Amino acid sequence: MRQSPLYICRRNRECPSRHPVEPSAKYADPLCTILFSIIVIITTVQLFRESLAILLNAVPLSLSLRTLHCELANLDGVRSVHHLNVWQHTTQQRVMMVHLVTDYRSDRNEILQAATKLVSGPRYNVWHSTIQLEQASA
Ligand SMILES: [Zn+2]
Repeated sequence: MRQSPLYICRRNRECPSRHPVEPSAKYADPLCTILFSIIVIITTVQLFRESLAILLNAVPLSLSLRTLHCELANLDGVRSVHHLNVWQHTTQQRVMMVHLVTDYRSDRNEILQAATKLVSGPRYNVWHSTIQLEQASA
């Protein structure tokens, strides 16, 4: 039975004629592997973070939830804000849900338009918003 040359080389560690290796080049392969691994890690960390934030429905890093809460609460006719949630649906689409408690005398359509204009503007860039208006008791 004839054995393959590879098997023979594994058994007989000294086969310089079939696989000549330069002693100075024996670190080239692991160094290239490490170098390319570092390049891949560096170039994919941002994508990985964005993907993880989308999967976890996290608040987008570029958005201040506290500032948005204050700006919504400062709209004319809004008494308070609760249940404010903002998350990234895709890398381009941001989604928001909020409850606004309004004065009983205020124009609810104006509040809705003002809130929609605020969140869909360039500052917050919300692609889809669900705004629930709740009328405060007198
Ligand atoms: Zn509510």
